[in-house]
Amino acid sequence: MATRGMRSMVAHAPSKASDSAAWQEDAACVRWDFKKHGDPFFPTSAAPAAAQQAQAICGTCRVRQICGFFAHEDANTFKYGIYGGTTAEDRIRARRRTQQEARRAREETS
Ligand code: SF4
Repeated sequence: MATRGMRSMVAHAPSKASDSAAWQEDAACVRWDFKKHGDPFFPTSAAPAAAQQAQAICGTCRVRQICGFFAHEDANTFKYGIYGGTTAEDRIRARRRTQQEARRAREETS
């Protein structure tokens, strides 16, 4: 059983999710044994392979999409760590792309 209790994401997500805790029960990280295997979801530069391990776990997760959505939408809460199979850098790049696309769309309509 996960010692982080659905990780920090889950602690924040219910207030935003319409069906609150239902999706969290299906999270693959809940079954990860953090005590035994450590925390690959917050990899350090000394253990970069941990990020790949976390992403592999996310790859098997049935709630990956909603997890990734919250992490993408709430940059302040999910500033660090692996969520929805994305790293913090992945999310920063994705937000930039979204902002650039929105800017381009505004320019095209003005
Ligand atoms: S996508 Fe990854 S971080 Fe998100 S709930 Fe699933 S296993 Fe946990």
